[in-house]
Amino acid sequence: MFGTNGVRGARLAKALLIALFAAVVSGCGGDPNPKPVPVPQPLPSPSPQSTAPEVRLARQLAVNPVTRTTEITPVSYPVNEPAALFQTDLNLTRMLYANVIPDRYSATLSRLASRTQINGLNAQVVNDLACSPVPFGGGIAGADAVYLDGKLLDLMADIANGLAMKASGRLSASLSQIVDTAAAQQLSFANFCVPSAPLAFPDAMLTPAELDRSVEIFTQLAGGILFHEFGHVWARHTLLQLRDSIINPQGGFFAYTSATEDNADVISGVLSAKANHESTYPKMMIDLMTFAYFYRRSPGAVFFDQALTWQAQLQQMEPKHSSSAQRKMLIDLGFSGWARK
Ligand SMILES: [Zn+2]
Repeated sequence: MFGTNGVRGARLAKALLIALFAAVVSGCGGDPNPKPVPVPQPLPSPSPQSTAPEVRLARQLAVNPVTRTTEITPVSYPVNEPAALFQTDLNLTRMLYANVIPDRYSATLSRLASRTQINGLNAQVVNDLACSPVPFGGGIAGADAVYLDGKLLDLMADIANGLAMKASGRLSASLSQIVDTAAAQQLSFANFCVPSAPLAFPDAMLTPAELDRSVEIFTQLAGGILFHEFGHVWARHTLLQLRDSIINPQGGFFAYTSATEDNADVISGVLSAKANHESTYPKMMIDLMTFAYFYRRSPGAVFFDQALTWQAQLQQMEPKHSSSAQRKMLIDLGFSGWARK
C-alpha cells in the first residue's frame, strides 16, 4: 500500500517524533548528560518467511528432521497448559487403549515417518474407530498422540490390491467398482470392529510386482491420513483449541470454523509432496473417508459414485470440516506450497 515516498515519509515522521521526544526530555533539564538522539535504523528488508502461508508451512516442514514450530509453546501461567495437554492425551489414551492393536500397520507408519523425516511420531492404529468411544473419521489427534482408524486402513489396503491388479491389466474394473467390492467385505457387519487382511482382493491373488505396487498405493493413501493427524500435533492445534476454549468458554473461533482442520489438510499435502507421493492418493483418501462415513450409516445402500457427486463433494458434513471438494483443494495447495518453497 505504501510506496517509496510513503515509507520515507513514515521514517521521517518517526525521526521527527524521536527528536521531539528527546527535546522534551532534555528541556526538563533533569539529565545533565543527555543521551544522543538515536539514529533511525533502515527498515528491515522483507523477511523470506513473509510469504504465502502454504509456502511458509512447506519451508518449516522441509527441515530435517521435522521439529515442532517454536512459535507456539505451552506456558505455565496463567493456566497450567502443559498439564492440561497431558490430561488431554491421557483421556484419549484411556478411551482408546482397549481398541489399540499393537504394531498394526507399523511398517507403513515408519516408512511414512522416514520419507518425511517427521520426528517423535506417536501414532497407533485402533481396530475400528466407529466401535470406539470416539467414533470420528479416519483418525484422531491429541496433543502428542495420534490414533488412526484401522478399519479405514483395512478398506484402503483391499482397494490398493484391486488398483494394483487393475494397473497391471489383470482386472478390468473401474475405481468405483473396486471400492464398492472392497467395502462390501471390509465394512460388512461380520467385519465391524475387527481387523482384517484384504478380502475382496486377497494378497494371494497378486503377483509379487502387483503386491509391491499395492504396498506403494496403500502407503500413499495412508500418508494422507497420517500426515493430517501429525499436522494437528506439529502445529499444536490442541493447544490453540485449549486457549480458545479458555478465552471463549461459550464456544469461540475454532468451535465455528474449520481453521485447524484446513491447516492440517494443507500440511498433509505438503508432507505428501515431501514424501514424493502423487497428489491423487491423499485426495482419494478424502473421498474414501467420505464414502465410508455414508456407507457405515446405510451399509450396502451406498456406492462410491455417490460420494463423488457434486452434492456430496460440496456438502459440509460438520462445522469443523470443510467439504470434500475444499479439502482436496487444500491438499493441492500443500503440494503447490512445496513446489514454491
Ligand atoms: Zn483433523
